[in-house]
Amino acid sequence: MTELSKMILDKIRDVPDYPKPGVLFKDITPLLADPVTMAAVVDELAGLHQVDKIVGIEARGFILAAPVAYRAAAGFVPVRKKGKLPAETLEESYDLEYGSATIEVHRDAFAPGDRVLIVDDVLATGGTAKATVDLVQRAGARVVAIAVLMELGFLKGRDRVEGVELHSLVIV
Ligand code: AMP
Repeated sequence: MTELSKMILDKIRDVPDYPKPGVLFKDITPLLADPVTMAAVVDELAGLHQVDKIVGIEARGFILAAPVAYRAAAGFVPVRKKGKLPAETLEESYDLEYGSATIEVHRDAFAPGDRVLIVDDVLATGGTAKATVDLVQRAGARVVAIAVLMELGFLKGRDRVEGVELHSLVIV
């Protein structure tokens, strides 16, 4: 395990049974509150690939993706839950354990062929990441990679995004 992985693990708090029984929630707020770890994470993510846009997935993905975009001198693009973006959007729906979810991006968020890095805090089943990849591609951009702080390996989310480079700073 790298020094950075250890720092990240040390700053992510496990909260049992949140938001519902049986879920072990990975709370990144201690990491966000620690300027040394946060800076190391942002520097690492910003140095992964040369891209035009960093996509952040609502809501915790925003907190990471915005400073990464600044550091990488790239643009920031939000992917949001349905109904939150004001202008014309593209949408993508995907299945959750119970029910489904829909995410959106502005139709004009990318220039044709933009190189994109997708950033989120946790990769669980991979449904959100896969839907985001599809959305970005439909909007005319090229997904270079996905980067997450933490991958929950036992949920096999990696398989859902097969074919796309995936960087997980920590795998548990
Ligand atoms: P999934 O689509 O199953 O990969 O879920 C990923 C999304 O749900 C990410 O945006 C995460 O922020 C959130 N998420 C899923 N599981 C967890 C967890 N155990 N702890 C924290 N966030 C989670």
